[in-house]
Amino acid sequence: MVATTIKETQEKLRKGEISYKELLSGFLSRIKERNEETNALLSVMEKQSEKIKNVSSELPLYGAVFAIKDNILIKGESCTAGSKLLEHYRAPFDATVIEKIRRNGGVFIGKANMDEFAMGSSSENSAFGEIRNPYDLEKVPGGSSGGCAVAVKDGMCNAALGSDTGGSIRQPAAFCGVVGFKPTYGTVSRYGVISMASSFDQVGPFANSVEDAQLIFETIRGKDEKDSVTSNFEKKEAPKSIKVGIPEEYFVEGMEKEVEDAIKEAISKIEKNDIEVVNVNLPHTEYALPAYEIIMASEVSANMARYDGIRYGLEFDRPAAKSIEEAYLKNRGGGFGKEARRRIILGTYTLSAGYYDAYYIKAQKVRNLIASDFSDAFKKVDVILAPATPTLPFNIGEKVEDPLSMHLSDIFTVTSNLAGLPALSIPCGERKGLPVGMQVIGDRFNEDILFHVSKKLEKIWKK
Ligand code: GLN
Repeated sequence: MVATTIKETQEKLRKGEISYKELLSGFLSRIKERNEETNALLSVMEKQSEKIKNVSSELPLYGAVFAIKDNILIKGESCTAGSKLLEHYRAPFDATVIEKIRRNGGVFIGKANMDEFAMGSSSENSAFGEIRNPYDLEKVPGGSSGGCAVAVKDGMCNAALGSDTGGSIRQPAAFCGVVGFKPTYGTVSRYGVISMASSFDQVGPFANSVEDAQLIFETIRGKDEKDSVTSNFEKKEAPKSIKVGIPEEYFVEGMEKEVEDAIKEAISKIEKNDIEVVNVNLPHTEYALPAYEIIMASEVSANMARYDGIRYGLEFDRPAAKSIEEAYLKNRGGGFGKEARRRIILGTYTLSAGYYDAYYIKAQKVRNLIASDFSDAFKKVDVILAPATPTLPFNIGEKVEDPLSMHLSDIFTVTSNLAGLPALSIPCGERKGLPVGMQVIGDRFNEDILFHVSKKLEKIWKK
């Protein structure tokens, strides 16, 4: 697996060791070699190579070649969100994040395969076939942004943009041995990103180093008038001494021994490096996953309502439907995959008149409790460390018919989405030849400190 950072690429370009043309053709030939096996990219943007000559070497993302998750709009390119419903959709404009990457010198090489509408933890829910893990092609790469993680790990690009609603950047990053970052909710614009659950969705980078992830984040963040929840934040000074917190609630029963082992070993390494490690408590953690499931499904049902084959999405009308209801049934039943249908049905139920208070409102109250657990913890520590996933990458087909065990994959990641916190997944070891990811969770709008600590941790775990 060829993994190059943006920083390394920039150096090679500046020293004249490679040309921009060679850089791109290197990635393109890697795609030709590998994409059939992994199914990471749904479309390849070969024409970009001509435009590349004009990129100024002064720009921060000079030399950065991106794969973009297929739920982010690039003008003129196809954008399927992994769904049959959008198979023929072409984006009429650039998402704000795409505009920003372009302006800063980045280029795009392809659209990355994903779970349908970002719903999934294994990348098996794409209407265009499952994605495979480059460490072992019989294993899943994680999801929903599996294509992004695979493309970065496998050398098809040196960075990617994905979206994270409940772990879809951090979990596949952990399963594929790359860095994945979900920013504070509201720091990155969602304009031009196909929604899944709007109060959780956040765009963020996949990269081969924490430094690259930070570089990308710095270029895509900021207030955007087209997304009313976005805001800017002030730069924070790095603390002189670092204190990290370990929440005991994250070492749960059911966690695979290999993962627990690797995580504990990684934590013991940092204790020898002048970083203070203390225990913290996040007492409501056990309610996080059910609260996430309810709020997420409710928002999914609202966001998916537009794909009725009339306003948006493919029309399945052969033979022609005789009533509007029949048309909806055909279009939505024919267009959505199983997982999307399950969530739409659950979300419609939790939002229905009789059950709204019992489920949706209650889940929102739990959400507040989770957020205040974190606020309390961040009074004592700079960052919190936790496993990114409870298991190693599992086999293709192993969990796809068992939604409950699939959803358990997200047990450690959904909390940051519920509380709107920034969180990064960093490779911290290997077991059975497969990567293990550590999550570093920061306080809201405290990205500067999160990156400062994460760069130190990355160095320790790379040794
Ligand atoms: N795997 C989680 C889910 O299926 C998260 C998805 C995401 O972050 N987009 O809901």
